[in-house]
Amino acid sequence: MSIKENLERVKQNIAHAAIKAGKKPEDITLVMATKTVDSERIREAIREGGRIIGENKIQEALKKYEALKNEDAEWHFIGHLQTNKIKDVLKFADMIHSVDRLPLVEKLDHRLQQEGRSMDILIQVNTSHEESKYGIAPEEAISLVKQTAKYETLKIYGLMTIGLFTKDEIKIRACFKVLKEIHDAIIKEGIGRVQMKYLSMGMSGDYQIAIEEGANMVRIGTAIFGARNTPDAYYWPSEKTDKDRAGLL
Ligand SMILES: *Cc1c(COP(=O)(O)O)cnc(C)c1O
Repeated sequence: MSIKENLERVKQNIAHAAIKAGKKPEDITLVMATKTVDSERIREAIREGGRIIGENKIQEALKKYEALKNEDAEWHFIGHLQTNKIKDVLKFADMIHSVDRLPLVEKLDHRLQQEGRSMDILIQVNTSHEESKYGIAPEEAISLVKQTAKYETLKIYGLMTIGLFTKDEIKIRACFKVLKEIHDAIIKEGIGRVQMKYLSMGMSGDYQIAIEEGANMVRIGTAIFGARNTPDAYYWPSEKTDKDRAGLL
């Protein structure tokens, strides 16, 4: 299957799930998860209508950004962000999905102030607890949003999560429901400067479920570009590997 055909199929599936969820297809934003995908294949995907690139590793992203910065695309950082990489992430990212702790918030703010600019961010929540190391615990998420909202350099546009890697659809749905509940609670509280515009959840194996549960931003790699050779554990340290996930797709 070509990238073009894959993109068309993914977009059809998104549209179908959106309608099922009472939304319009265009309400759902597709982020192409491009880790391990080389610049030329990403260029092809952009030319076939992919508009947002989601990268996980700073060095890899910078290299691709250099090659593709003249293409009409938006760049999102979706991987774990170490504080010593802040300067580099700000060189290419239009949005950071993985803000998950106050020390990171403080350091991001510090650097953004130095550069005299702001950054669009999502707060990453660890809705699957044991399976993934990153993301703020659900119980602490609202508090982190409130604290982060005090920093004028950071524009909070929503929440992000990675669903549990399992074949058990009920457990996957439970993760997405947790994120939607936090999202709704934040809207209800009406925290100043916070816009709950995006709910970034859903990947190749679970985006239709995520959309049914309220996602309006999905991050899809394998279903567009095919299987990766590099183990996900490299991008995303956790006990689970591509082998565990292969059965899901
Ligand atoms: C790799 C990755 C995705 C996409 O995963 P696929 O299963 O290939 O669609 C989404 N989000 C994050 C954070 C990722 O690292």
